[in-house]
Amino acid sequence: MPLKVLILGGGNGAHVHAGIAASNPENEVRVMTLFQDEAERWSKALESSDLVLDYTDKDGKEKQFVSKPGLITKDPKLAVPGSDIIVFVVPAFAHAQYWEALKPHMEPGMVVIGMPGAAGWEFQAYDILGDKAKGITFFNFNTLPWNCRITEFGKRVGIVGFKDYFVGAIRKGSVEPKVDPLKAIQQSLGPRPVCTAYGDLLGMTLTYTNAFIHPSIMYGRWHDWDGKPVSESPLFYQGLDQASADLLSGVSSEIVAIAKTISAKKAGIDLSNAKHISDIMLEFYPEDIKDKSSFLRMMQSNKAFEGLRHPVINNEGGGVSPDFKARYIWEDVPFGLVVQRGIAEIVGVPTPNIDKIITWGQGLMGKEFLVDGKIKGKDIGMTRAPQRYGFTTLDAVLGAA
Ligand code: NAD
Repeated sequence: MPLKVLILGGGNGAHVHAGIAASNPENEVRVMTLFQDEAERWSKALESSDLVLDYTDKDGKEKQFVSKPGLITKDPKLAVPGSDIIVFVVPAFAHAQYWEALKPHMEPGMVVIGMPGAAGWEFQAYDILGDKAKGITFFNFNTLPWNCRITEFGKRVGIVGFKDYFVGAIRKGSVEPKVDPLKAIQQSLGPRPVCTAYGDLLGMTLTYTNAFIHPSIMYGRWHDWDGKPVSESPLFYQGLDQASADLLSGVSSEIVAIAKTISAKKAGIDLSNAKHISDIMLEFYPEDIKDKSSFLRMMQSNKAFEGLRHPVINNEGGGVSPDFKARYIWEDVPFGLVVQRGIAEIVGVPTPNIDKIITWGQGLMGKEFLVDGKIKGKDIGMTRAPQRYGFTTLDAVLGAA
């Protein structure tokens, strides 16, 4: 029996996952994208073409995955029933509608995977799925296994880089999963990256790295910006300065303190996956980091980060200005730092560095999340903070209430 893989989304990552999974006849691949007419356009594109993924292999040779996913639809009745694994490969702001669409068709034992789910993924799932969440196994990863960009919608995608290692966490439901979650995701992704899973699911929400790396570095570079355009977009990681690295490390230490406090309160919860950012970097990029002498040097010398720049907008009069509408603020603050800060509040851990960045970020967005030291602002409805769902105890955060 083939593994029935349902991929959610229609962007870069969804194309790559669909293409790699469908290139193995042991997988039966369906894609569900709810966005506009994307499903129709993608299906039409594949009437006259295969889905081709271009990449450079480790031996330096140009290679391709060539395949055709079995079904691309926006209809959950066609997509969901019978699925073994259901994989979210779509930005966090679009997740709610997918949970709503999945809900009537969810079967106990299904495995739902966030790739990445981003912070608070499971809170939204518990809130929307209600009792249906009980029989489901949740498996969340910290990121996407590839850097990738569509070159021709529906037909062709470039995989710029593969991660070598891919780390996630599993929380089993009350019903035994239909398939082994780790083996199944590995089969759908092929041999690269090597997938592992350990620790509680909450560890992924706490250490969803985009959530705190991007806003911390944005804050470090731009919080005292004088409003004058700069000549070019600064390098995001290679151009990191000591103060920004210290801030990022400080934010990460606050998150580790949240995890330690939770572990002290709940002996059975394994949050060994909620590590400091320097340890996470060594775990994800053991071969890419050239200089491990300090945290700053690790971030500056990671091959996987080479050439990545700050999001900017071009000025008519020349030069560039920071793009404060970028995902690094608009996604990573409400679907990231605010969630982590909300958990800190529940377990009583002070987070001065996180607070400073949220205060700055919400000001840029013209939103209110953190008010008078509490996650209670008028805009928490656009976040996935536990408070937004009425989860105000540790048991609720852990899915036990
Ligand atoms: P993407 O930007 O390609 O996603 C675009 C897709 O999202 C669209 O095709 C559509 O299906 C959906 N979408 C967009 N706007 C929508 C809306 N208003 N309503 C509903 N759906 C909408 O995303 P991606 O590059 O595949 O990335 C997926 C996730 O992985 C993101 O969270 C991203 O931050 C993360 N990630 C991506 C990369 C990468 O290289 N692409 C690398 C690391 C992490």
